[in-house]
Amino acid sequence: MKIKDIYIQKKAVLSFEIFPPKPDYPVDSVFHTLEGLKDLGPDFISVTYGAGGSNRARTIEIASRVKHDYQMESQAHLTCIGHSPAELEKIIDEIKEHDIENILALRGDPPRDQPNYRPQEGYYLDSIDLVRHIRRKGGFCIGAAAYPEGHSQSARWDQDWLRLRDKVMEGVDFLLTQMFFDNRVFYNFAENMFRLGVKVPISPGIMPILNINQIKRMINLSGASIPSKLLLMFDKYGDNSSDFEKAGIEYAINQIDDLLENGVAGIHLCTMNKVEQTRMIVQNSKLRSRP
Ligand code: FAD
Repeated sequence: MKIKDIYIQKKAVLSFEIFPPKPDYPVDSVFHTLEGLKDLGPDFISVTYGAGGSNRARTIEIASRVKHDYQMESQAHLTCIGHSPAELEKIIDEIKEHDIENILALRGDPPRDQPNYRPQEGYYLDSIDLVRHIRRKGGFCIGAAAYPEGHSQSARWDQDWLRLRDKVMEGVDFLLTQMFFDNRVFYNFAENMFRLGVKVPISPGIMPILNINQIKRMINLSGASIPSKLLLMFDKYGDNSSDFEKAGIEYAINQIDDLLENGVAGIHLCTMNKVEQTRMIVQNSKLRSRP
Protein backbone atom coordinates (compact mmCIF):
# COMPACT_ATOMS: atom_id res chain seq x y z
CA MET A 1 0.00 0.00 0.00
CA LYS A 2 1.17 3.51 -0.68
CA ILE A 3 1.80 5.56 2.46
CA LYS A 4 -0.03 8.57 1.01
CA ASP A 5 -3.21 6.43 1.10
CA ILE A 6 -2.62 5.60 4.77
CA TYR A 7 -2.54 9.36 5.49
CA ILE A 8 -5.87 9.71 3.69
CA GLN A 9 -7.46 6.86 5.65
CA LYS A 10 -6.09 7.58 9.14
CA LYS A 11 -6.25 10.60 11.38
CA ALA A 12 -2.91 10.15 13.11
CA VAL A 13 -0.46 7.90 11.29
CA LEU A 14 2.13 6.18 13.47
CA SER A 15 5.45 5.33 11.83
CA PHE A 16 8.54 3.77 13.35
CA GLU A 17 12.03 4.35 12.05
CA ILE A 18 14.47 1.46 12.37
CA PHE A 19 18.03 1.03 11.16
CA PRO A 20 19.70 -2.09 9.72
CA PRO A 21 22.34 -3.67 11.98
CA LYS A 22 25.94 -2.88 10.98
CA PRO A 23 27.36 -5.21 8.28
CA ASP A 24 29.44 -7.20 10.80
CA TYR A 25 26.44 -7.75 13.07
CA PRO A 26 23.84 -10.49 12.40
CA VAL A 27 20.87 -9.11 10.47
CA ASP A 28 18.52 -11.32 12.52
CA SER A 29 18.73 -9.02 15.55
CA VAL A 30 16.46 -6.54 13.77
CA PHE A 31 13.77 -9.17 13.33
CA HIS A 32 13.41 -9.58 17.10
CA THR A 33 12.94 -5.82 17.19
CA LEU A 34 10.27 -6.01 14.50
CA GLU A 35 8.31 -8.67 16.36
CA GLY A 36 8.10 -6.37 19.38
CA LEU A 37 7.28 -3.28 17.34
CA LYS A 38 4.52 -5.05 15.41
CA ASP A 39 2.51 -5.47 18.65
CA LEU A 40 2.36 -1.68 18.93
CA GLY A 41 0.36 -1.38 15.71
CA PRO A 42 2.44 1.02 13.59
CA ASP A 43 0.98 2.10 10.25
CA PHE A 44 4.34 1.76 8.54
CA ILE A 45 7.99 1.02 9.23
CA SER A 46 10.71 3.17 7.69
CA VAL A 47 14.14 1.57 7.20
CA THR A 48 17.18 3.86 7.08
CA TYR A 49 19.93 3.71 4.47
CA GLY A 50 23.59 3.59 5.48
CA ALA A 51 25.69 6.61 4.58
CA GLY A 52 26.82 6.29 0.96
CA GLY A 53 24.93 3.04 0.59
CA SER A 54 27.23 1.11 2.97
CA ASN A 55 24.35 -1.03 4.18
CA ARG A 56 22.14 -0.85 1.15
CA ALA A 57 21.35 -4.53 0.63
CA ARG A 58 20.17 -4.74 4.22
CA THR A 59 17.82 -1.77 3.88
CA ILE A 60 16.03 -3.44 0.99
CA GLU A 61 16.08 -6.89 2.59
CA ILE A 62 14.64 -5.58 5.86
CA ALA A 63 12.02 -3.36 4.19
CA SER A 64 10.98 -6.35 2.09
CA ARG A 65 10.68 -8.65 5.11
CA VAL A 66 8.73 -6.01 7.07
CA LYS A 67 6.17 -6.13 4.29
CA HIS A 68 6.12 -9.78 3.31
CA ASP A 69 6.97 -11.62 6.53
CA TYR A 70 5.56 -9.23 9.12
CA GLN A 71 2.66 -7.82 7.08
CA MET A 72 3.40 -4.21 7.94
CA GLU A 73 3.72 -1.49 5.32
CA SER A 74 7.32 -0.51 4.72
CA GLN A 75 9.37 2.32 3.32
CA ALA A 76 12.99 2.10 2.14
CA HIS A 77 15.17 5.19 2.64
CA LEU A 78 17.45 5.96 -0.31
CA THR A 79 20.24 8.55 -0.49
CA CYS A 80 21.68 9.79 -3.77
CA ILE A 81 25.06 11.05 -2.54
CA GLY A 82 27.86 8.80 -3.83
CA HIS A 83 25.68 6.96 -6.38
CA SER A 84 25.61 7.62 -10.12
CA PRO A 85 22.14 7.98 -11.71
CA ALA A 86 22.68 4.55 -13.32
CA GLU A 87 23.40 2.98 -9.92
CA LEU A 88 20.32 4.66 -8.48
CA GLU A 89 18.26 3.27 -11.34
CA LYS A 90 19.45 -0.25 -10.44
CA ILE A 91 18.67 0.26 -6.75
CA ILE A 92 15.20 1.59 -7.51
CA ASP A 93 14.62 -1.45 -9.77
CA GLU A 94 15.70 -3.67 -6.91
CA ILE A 95 13.27 -1.90 -4.55
CA LYS A 96 10.51 -2.43 -7.12
CA GLU A 97 11.38 -6.12 -7.52
CA HIS A 98 10.82 -6.53 -3.78
CA ASP A 99 7.39 -4.98 -4.21
CA ILE A 100 8.25 -2.06 -1.90
CA GLU A 101 6.03 0.86 -2.93
CA ASN A 102 7.43 3.64 -0.72
CA ILE A 103 10.79 5.41 -0.89
CA LEU A 104 12.07 8.22 1.35
CA ALA A 105 14.14 10.20 -1.16
CA LEU A 106 17.18 11.80 0.48
CA ARG A 107 20.39 13.46 -0.47
CA GLY A 108 22.43 11.97 2.39
CA ASP A 109 25.42 13.54 4.09
CA PRO A 110 28.79 14.08 2.42
CA PRO A 111 31.64 11.96 3.85
CA ARG A 112 32.72 13.56 7.16
CA ASP A 113 36.39 13.59 6.21
CA GLN A 114 35.63 15.59 3.02
CA PRO A 115 34.38 19.05 4.10
CA ASN A 116 34.72 20.38 0.51
CA TYR A 117 32.93 17.42 -1.02
CA ARG A 118 31.52 17.99 -4.51
CA PRO A 119 29.53 15.32 -6.35
CA GLN A 120 31.22 13.77 -9.37
CA GLU A 121 30.27 15.07 -12.81
CA GLY A 122 26.76 13.90 -13.71
CA TYR A 123 25.87 12.82 -10.16
CA TYR A 124 22.85 14.31 -8.39
CA LEU A 125 23.37 17.43 -6.30
CA ASP A 126 20.48 17.06 -3.90
CA SER A 127 17.30 15.18 -3.13
CA ILE A 128 15.23 17.13 -5.67
CA ASP A 129 17.11 15.32 -8.45
CA LEU A 130 16.36 11.99 -6.79
CA VAL A 131 12.67 12.88 -6.35
CA ARG A 132 12.50 13.70 -10.09
CA HIS A 133 14.23 10.42 -10.95
CA ILE A 134 11.80 8.31 -8.89
CA ARG A 135 8.80 10.28 -10.16
CA ARG A 136 9.90 9.68 -13.79
CA LYS A 137 10.27 6.01 -13.04
CA GLY A 138 6.71 5.90 -11.69
CA GLY A 139 4.85 3.53 -9.39
CA PHE A 140 6.22 4.81 -6.06
CA CYS A 141 4.89 6.91 -3.22
CA ILE A 142 7.68 9.39 -2.43
CA GLY A 143 8.46 10.75 1.02
CA ALA A 144 11.11 13.36 1.80
CA ALA A 145 12.87 14.92 4.78
CA ALA A 146 11.91 18.30 6.25
CA TYR A 147 13.71 20.50 8.77
CA PRO A 148 11.52 22.54 11.15
CA GLU A 149 14.61 24.51 12.24
CA GLY A 150 16.06 24.62 8.73
CA HIS A 151 18.74 22.25 7.48
CA SER A 152 22.03 22.78 9.31
CA GLN A 153 23.74 23.70 6.01
CA SER A 154 21.17 26.35 5.23
CA ALA A 155 21.91 29.93 6.25
CA ARG A 156 18.26 30.83 6.90
CA TRP A 157 15.19 28.84 7.89
CA ASP A 158 12.95 30.55 5.33
CA GLN A 159 15.35 29.76 2.47
CA ASP A 160 15.39 26.14 3.53
CA TRP A 161 11.58 26.05 3.56
CA LEU A 162 11.35 27.59 0.07
CA ARG A 163 13.69 24.87 -1.10
CA LEU A 164 11.46 22.32 0.62
CA ARG A 165 8.41 23.71 -1.16
CA ASP A 166 10.23 23.26 -4.50
CA LYS A 167 11.07 19.70 -3.51
CA VAL A 168 7.43 18.92 -2.71
CA MET A 169 6.31 20.49 -6.00
CA GLU A 170 8.50 17.96 -7.84
CA GLY A 171 6.23 15.19 -6.61
CA VAL A 172 6.75 14.47 -2.90
CA ASP A 173 3.69 12.83 -1.33
CA PHE A 174 4.45 13.38 2.37
CA LEU A 175 7.16 14.70 4.68
CA LEU A 176 8.90 13.31 7.75
CA THR A 177 10.73 15.85 9.87
CA GLN A 178 14.04 16.05 11.60
CA MET A 179 13.88 15.80 15.40
CA PHE A 180 13.04 18.91 17.42
CA PHE A 181 12.47 19.37 21.14
CA ASP A 182 10.16 22.36 21.32
CA ASN A 183 6.79 21.82 19.67
CA ARG A 184 6.42 25.54 18.97
CA VAL A 185 9.22 25.09 16.44
CA PHE A 186 7.09 22.54 14.60
CA TYR A 187 3.87 24.59 14.71
CA ASN A 188 5.68 27.61 13.32
CA PHE A 189 7.21 25.49 10.56
CA ALA A 190 3.91 23.77 9.66
CA GLU A 191 2.10 27.11 9.48
CA ASN A 192 4.78 28.56 7.21
CA MET A 193 4.70 25.53 4.93
CA PHE A 194 0.92 25.85 4.67
CA ARG A 195 1.29 29.53 3.75
CA LEU A 196 3.79 28.51 1.06
CA GLY A 197 1.15 26.18 -0.39
CA VAL A 198 2.56 22.88 0.87
CA LYS A 199 -0.47 20.73 1.62
CA VAL A 200 1.05 17.23 1.83
CA PRO A 201 0.90 15.47 5.23
CA ILE A 202 3.82 16.26 7.56
CA SER A 203 4.68 13.84 10.35
CA PRO A 204 6.86 15.35 13.07
CA GLY A 205 9.93 13.25 13.90
CA ILE A 206 10.29 12.40 17.58
CA MET A 207 13.62 11.26 18.94
CA PRO A 208 13.32 10.02 22.54
CA ILE A 209 16.26 11.13 24.63
CA LEU A 210 17.47 8.03 26.40
CA ASN A 211 20.98 8.94 27.44
CA ILE A 212 23.03 12.07 27.58
CA ASN A 213 25.82 10.96 25.22
CA GLN A 214 23.37 9.84 22.56
CA ILE A 215 21.56 13.15 22.63
CA LYS A 216 24.74 15.23 22.49
CA ARG A 217 25.74 13.30 19.36
CA MET A 218 22.29 13.67 17.79
CA ILE A 219 22.03 17.37 18.52
CA ASN A 220 25.48 17.87 17.09
CA LEU A 221 24.46 16.10 13.86
CA SER A 222 21.00 17.62 13.47
CA GLY A 223 21.57 21.12 14.82
CA ALA A 224 18.30 20.87 16.83
CA SER A 225 18.04 23.56 19.52
CA ILE A 226 17.62 22.64 23.17
CA PRO A 227 14.82 24.28 25.18
CA SER A 228 15.54 25.24 28.77
CA LYS A 229 13.36 22.50 30.26
CA LEU A 230 15.52 19.95 28.47
CA LEU A 231 18.67 21.57 29.83
CA LEU A 232 17.16 21.34 33.31
CA MET A 233 16.56 17.65 32.71
CA PHE A 234 20.20 17.19 31.69
CA ASP A 235 21.30 18.90 34.94
CA LYS A 236 18.88 17.02 37.14
CA TYR A 237 19.33 13.48 35.82
CA GLY A 238 22.64 13.64 33.91
CA ASP A 239 24.41 11.50 36.53
CA ASN A 240 21.77 8.81 36.84
CA SER A 241 21.23 6.84 33.64
CA SER A 242 18.03 5.11 34.70
CA ASP A 243 16.32 8.32 35.91
CA PHE A 244 17.59 10.10 32.81
CA GLU A 245 15.97 7.49 30.56
CA LYS A 246 12.67 7.74 32.47
CA ALA A 247 12.69 11.51 32.16
CA GLY A 248 13.54 11.26 28.45
CA ILE A 249 10.62 8.91 27.83
CA GLU A 250 8.29 11.25 29.71
CA TYR A 251 9.57 14.19 27.65
CA ALA A 252 8.80 12.31 24.41
CA ILE A 253 5.32 11.37 25.70
CA ASN A 254 4.53 15.00 26.52
CA GLN A 255 5.77 16.16 23.12
CA ILE A 256 3.65 13.52 21.33
CA ASP A 257 0.49 14.21 23.35
CA ASP A 258 0.71 17.91 22.65
CA LEU A 259 1.29 17.29 18.92
CA LEU A 260 -1.66 14.91 18.71
CA GLU A 261 -3.92 17.38 20.57
CA ASN A 262 -2.94 19.92 17.95
CA GLY A 263 -4.01 17.65 15.11
CA VAL A 264 -0.75 16.59 13.45
CA ALA A 265 -1.02 14.18 10.51
CA GLY A 266 1.09 11.57 12.27
CA ILE A 267 4.01 10.82 14.54
CA HIS A 268 7.29 9.49 13.18
CA LEU A 269 9.07 7.84 16.08
CA CYS A 270 12.80 7.11 15.85
CA THR A 271 12.91 3.83 17.74
CA MET A 272 16.69 3.33 17.64
CA ASN A 273 15.63 -0.34 17.44
CA LYS A 274 14.65 -0.23 21.14
CA VAL A 275 11.39 -2.10 21.69
CA GLU A 276 10.82 -1.59 25.42
CA GLN A 277 11.30 2.17 25.37
CA THR A 278 9.12 2.45 22.25
CA ARG A 279 6.43 0.40 23.97
CA MET A 280 6.54 2.67 27.05
CA ILE A 281 6.06 5.71 24.84
CA VAL A 282 3.22 4.29 22.75
CA GLN A 283 1.34 2.77 25.69
CA ASN A 284 1.63 5.82 27.93
CA SER A 285 0.79 8.46 25.34
CA LYS A 286 -2.27 9.33 23.31
CA LEU A 287 -0.84 7.10 20.56
CA ARG A 288 -2.41 4.21 22.48
CA SER A 289 -5.93 5.33 21.61
CA ARG A 290 -5.38 7.13 18.33
CA PRO A 291 -8.30 6.81 15.88
P1 FAD B 1 18.10 18.04 0.43
O1 FAD B 1 16.62 18.05 0.39
O2 FAD B 1 18.80 17.78 -0.86
O3 FAD B 1 18.65 19.37 1.05
C1 FAD B 1 18.43 19.73 2.38
C2 FAD B 1 18.61 21.22 2.51
O4 FAD B 1 19.91 21.61 2.08
C3 FAD B 1 17.65 22.00 1.67
O5 FAD B 1 16.41 22.14 2.31
C4 FAD B 1 18.43 23.29 1.48
O6 FAD B 1 18.33 24.10 2.60
C5 FAD B 1 19.82 22.83 1.37
N1 FAD B 1 20.18 22.61 -0.04
C6 FAD B 1 20.45 21.41 -0.61
N2 FAD B 1 20.77 21.58 -1.90
C7 FAD B 1 20.72 22.89 -2.14
C8 FAD B 1 20.95 23.69 -3.29
N3 FAD B 1 21.32 23.14 -4.46
N4 FAD B 1 20.80 25.03 -3.19
C9 FAD B 1 20.43 25.58 -2.03
N5 FAD B 1 20.19 24.88 -0.89
C10 FAD B 1 20.33 23.57 -0.95
N6 FAD B 1 20.57 10.16 6.02
C11 FAD B 1 21.06 8.95 5.60
O7 FAD B 1 22.23 8.87 5.21
N7 FAD B 1 20.27 7.82 5.64
C12 FAD B 1 18.98 7.84 6.06
O8 FAD B 1 18.29 6.81 6.06
C13 FAD B 1 18.43 9.10 6.50
N8 FAD B 1 17.14 9.20 6.92
C14 FAD B 1 16.63 10.43 7.29
C15 FAD B 1 15.28 10.51 7.70
C16 FAD B 1 14.74 11.73 8.07
C17 FAD B 1 13.27 11.80 8.52
C18 FAD B 1 15.54 12.91 8.07
C19 FAD B 1 14.98 14.24 8.51
C20 FAD B 1 16.89 12.83 7.66
C21 FAD B 1 17.44 11.60 7.26
N9 FAD B 1 18.78 11.50 6.84
C22 FAD B 1 19.28 10.26 6.45
C23 FAD B 1 19.68 12.66 6.89
C24 FAD B 1 19.79 13.41 5.54
O9 FAD B 1 20.37 12.58 4.56
C25 FAD B 1 20.64 14.65 5.77
O10 FAD B 1 19.98 15.56 6.62
C26 FAD B 1 21.17 15.36 4.53
O11 FAD B 1 22.14 16.33 4.94
C27 FAD B 1 20.10 16.14 3.76
O12 FAD B 1 19.29 15.28 3.08
P2 FAD B 1 17.95 15.88 2.37
O13 FAD B 1 17.39 14.79 1.53
O14 FAD B 1 17.09 16.53 3.35
O15 FAD B 1 18.66 16.97 1.46
